[in-house]
Amino acid sequence: MINKDALDKSTLEKEALQNQFGKFTSAQLKWLDKAKVFAKRIPLAEVMASDSENVFRKDLFQAACKEGLGALPFPAEYGGAGGDYLSFSLVNEEFGRTCVPIMSSLGVHVLCQEPIYRFGTAEQKQKYLTKASSGEYLGAFGLTEPNAGSDTAAIETTAKDMGDHYVLNGTKTFITSGASADFYIVMAKLLGGEKAQITSFIVERDFPGFSIGQKFDMLGMRGYSTCEIVFDDCKVPKANLLGAHGEGRKVALSSLAKGRVTIAAQSIGWAQGALDACTETLRRAYLDGHCGADLNGQALALGNLAVLTESARVLTYQAARLIDAGETSVTIAAMAKTQATDVAMQVSTQAMSLIGIEGLKPNLLIERIFRDAKAGQIYEGTNQIQRMLIARDLLK
Ligand SMILES: Cc1cc2nc3c(=O)[nH]c(=O)nc-3n(C[C@H](O)[C@H](O)[C@H](O)COP(=O)(O)OP(=O)(O)OC[C@H]3O[C@@H](n4cnc5c(N)ncnc54)[C@H](O)[C@@H]3O)c2cc1C
Repeated sequence: MINKDALDKSTLEKEALQNQFGKFTSAQLKWLDKAKVFAKRIPLAEVMASDSENVFRKDLFQAACKEGLGALPFPAEYGGAGGDYLSFSLVNEEFGRTCVPIMSSLGVHVLCQEPIYRFGTAEQKQKYLTKASSGEYLGAFGLTEPNAGSDTAAIETTAKDMGDHYVLNGTKTFITSGASADFYIVMAKLLGGEKAQITSFIVERDFPGFSIGQKFDMLGMRGYSTCEIVFDDCKVPKANLLGAHGEGRKVALSSLAKGRVTIAAQSIGWAQGALDACTETLRRAYLDGHCGADLNGQALALGNLAVLTESARVLTYQAARLIDAGETSVTIAAMAKTQATDVAMQVSTQAMSLIGIEGLKPNLLIERIFRDAKAGQIYEGTNQIQRMLIARDLLK
């Protein structure tokens, strides 16, 4: 039989907080606190409406940018908050746990600023990073195409050098924030050389020839304006080439490892949210005396979910700390993304089973987490592809 003391919320939570907080600096804890305050201000009804109505809350995105969250891990020079990736991970974890409706767009927004920092010209930095950090501009990342998902080398979008500008043609698909963004990091094959080489561009939504295509009504990750973006003889100024001709893969890959750590952090938030809901249900069942002979079995399952969540958390923080130490590891980032998204799927699935029929009711976070977690295993490189990357690193 379960020891009633072990279910005492304040004891458990106090210990968990003490254990975790000892590992963070006061600056990192300040960001976590900011995220908690921000999340608390959004009523559950609004969280669920962004999902059921599939509507992106740009107002919340801009409010988050005012709090410094839109460019948290970047230096102050262009409006960044001067924080680190571990702080950004803590924010994403909190946003995943509470299903803050802008979570994914914020992650992609930071993903888009990274290559401009690393490859952008002074003018590009001044224009795009300053506006991105203030929230005036929302960024989106255009890599995937209808015929090029995991195999990025298969992209068919083309760019032609016209002397004083480029012309882009093609379609990108499943673009987070696609219908709401102001600028897009776009990878296209530059025609004209011996071999078309993947090259990156910064495209603004009001450039001639740019349009929004089909919008998606997905199972999970709803409310993020996910859609196709279409380039029909889209005229892009020369000044909007990002990096050099043929550097597109380098530009894209430079930010994806960090993006995967962000997704890992969001996923441990989902796992924690599912675990919280499940713990609360079992605690109530015990305290109400509905603890039948099987509660010990349920407690075993609950304990296992906590083990899974904590193991993914440790790996995710490790990946974030490596970024902050200037030693970003593509392999550790891939491990963190794979483990954390698999754990989020596993924990939310089993938590739903343990909660029973209540967990299936719409308008509960656990139900949304369960659907969102599935997408986590797929985007920014499927978990199968991540495992192949890890194996390739071992075998090389
Ligand atoms: C919610 C959501 C948001 C997204 N946001 C963005 C975005 O903002 N920008 C963007 O560019 N893209 C975005 N994507 C697209 C995402 O990155 C792709 O879905 C992903 O890269 C996988 O591509 P695919 O869906 O075409 O699958 P495919 O590449 O067609 O793969 C299908 C299956 O085959 C497996 N597979 C493929 N190749 C291999 C191989 N060589 N070996 C073993 N298995 C393999 C895959 O693992 C998968 O299981 C988003 C997707 C989702 C679901």
